[in-house]
Amino acid sequence: MHCVLRSDDLFVIQRAKDVLEAKGITCLIKNQFASGAMGEIPPQDCIPELWLLDESWAPRAERILAELDERPQQGAWHCPQCRELNEAQFAICWNCQDSRD
Ligand SMILES: [Zn+2]
Repeated sequence: MHCVLRSDDLFVIQRAKDVLEAKGITCLIKNQFASGAMGEIPPQDCIPELWLLDESWAPRAERILAELDERPQQGAWHCPQCRELNEAQFAICWNCQDSRD
């Protein structure tokens, strides 16, 4: 298997997984629930990771993820309260639950 993404922000990992799977690239999240086990395992093993089931998809997956970073989604908005970036379909901030208006 091949790790394509590491981030301590599970939201980022989950979004990348959704995008890849929409394109037929099967992947899985490791350490998804690791924060609850913090203290029992070393912190570097607690960072959520996105893994491809098939390594041959890696170049394609990495290109898709690179494009994702470059182009913010249409309609994405920054929270007026905490400045987090939210996806267009959400009416409230994922981070602080403030409304987009
Ligand atoms: Zn917010």
